[in-house]
Amino acid sequence: MIPVKGYAGAKVAVLGLGRSGLATARALMAGGAAPLLWDDSPEARTRAEAEGFVCYDLTRAGAFEGVALLVTSPGIPHLYPAPNKIIARALEAGIPVDNDIGLFFRSFATNDWDNFETAPRVICVTGSNGKSTTTALIHHILEEAGRPTQMAGNIGRGVLDIDPAEDGEVVVLELSSYQTDLARALTPDIAVFTNLSPDHLDRHNGLGGYFAAKRRLFAEGGPDRAVIGVDEAEGRFLANQMSEGPQDDRVIRVSSATKLEVFGWSVFARKGFLSEWRRGKQVASIDLREIAGLPGAHNHQNACAAYAACRSLGLGPKQIETAFHSFAGLPHRSQLVGERAGVRFINDSKATNVDSAAKALQAFPAIRWIAGGMGKDGGIAGLLPFIGSVKKAYLIGHSARDFALELGDLPHEICETMARAVARAAEEACMGEVVLLAPAAASFDQYPNFEKRGEDFTARVKALMDV
Ligand code: ADP
Repeated sequence: MIPVKGYAGAKVAVLGLGRSGLATARALMAGGAAPLLWDDSPEARTRAEAEGFVCYDLTRAGAFEGVALLVTSPGIPHLYPAPNKIIARALEAGIPVDNDIGLFFRSFATNDWDNFETAPRVICVTGSNGKSTTTALIHHILEEAGRPTQMAGNIGRGVLDIDPAEDGEVVVLELSSYQTDLARALTPDIAVFTNLSPDHLDRHNGLGGYFAAKRRLFAEGGPDRAVIGVDEAEGRFLANQMSEGPQDDRVIRVSSATKLEVFGWSVFARKGFLSEWRRGKQVASIDLREIAGLPGAHNHQNACAAYAACRSLGLGPKQIETAFHSFAGLPHRSQLVGERAGVRFINDSKATNVDSAAKALQAFPAIRWIAGGMGKDGGIAGLLPFIGSVKKAYLIGHSARDFALELGDLPHEICETMARAVARAAEEACMGEVVLLAPAAASFDQYPNFEKRGEDFTARVKALMDV
């Protein structure tokens, strides 16, 4: 745990008692603060009380008297579409509002570091898609290279829950836009921006607000090195803003489509090959085509970003290439879950938005596509340019009929359930084809979360294998 600094003896309100909220409460206690915990859900309060914490009703009048800080969880709106009423009270009373990420950055460094040979470093990864994969891949490469490393943030472990850093340690954090928008301190040594596509627009009042939230990771901290995906205008703008000119190698530009040869430092993937260029010369190249854990151009973008971050820590290209080969990939992201009679079954349940589903649809040549769920604003119109490899769609969930209308002439079948979709797709698939779950929709109509949806798909595929 990282004890929180700067609030010894102070009352600190903690709103939201999920994983990160409870980790924050423990870290505040360890730093000598008096946490006042609240969550609207009685079950969450009971869990906190079972751990020995006292809950304190932050909704009552005067609750913020004598409180030095309010720490909130990422799921709770702090500004748009409207601030949560407790956060609104704190803002009215002039109480600073922060999150665990802000507390982490003010508390991470310790006096022990004076005796370290190599100061610990923090790498933060943000972007619309590929954050978790890139974060896990950087962590994996560092582990394989024998560097002490820990991984936390949006990927699952609360940032204040990690152990104090060892000599030379590298902490890799995945940060969502909700987290970067609110944190009062954001000072990574290396900041990574994967890409940008519309998502969570209600929480940021539109695309501009969403990009602004992500940009704070670069603007506030002034990282020593910025790794920036430049396949969209926003990435190019950010890279430009962070550098003095094209030769400034504090920015490493990354692309999954374009040759970037004129910059001080760049890493790009084309036709399945990663290339690293420095000052007009290629210095390394890696064949990504046979790397099972990183299929498709979208994963090649993640590979480039992770490669760039690790190179800027001084790792060698060969070391990174070897680690790519042993990366197993993350569950529910282009994950191979089985193969039968030459048909591969791929679980990309995490493809909850149009952009990530488009990437999955471009990663395989002949697809039986399982899609649908709780559709998002705009439907799947944005996917139509990418359905060229789809032989047939098997539609499930709430949005099945809407998706069917949008698909027009593309062969499709309303299957309603995952069970039927897997059975029908498996029945019709021919050798060399891929049965792909890439829903382009949220899971909440039929499942508690995308993980459960992916597990259901996987279980049904495994059951087929056992027949
Ligand atoms: P995040 O943590 O940003 O949500 P993940 O690594 O969990 O990213 O991937 C989320 C979804 O996006 C998955 O469906 C995955 O296959 C897809 N994806 C992964 N990397 C990229 C990328 N670089 N660009 C677009 N989509 C991607």
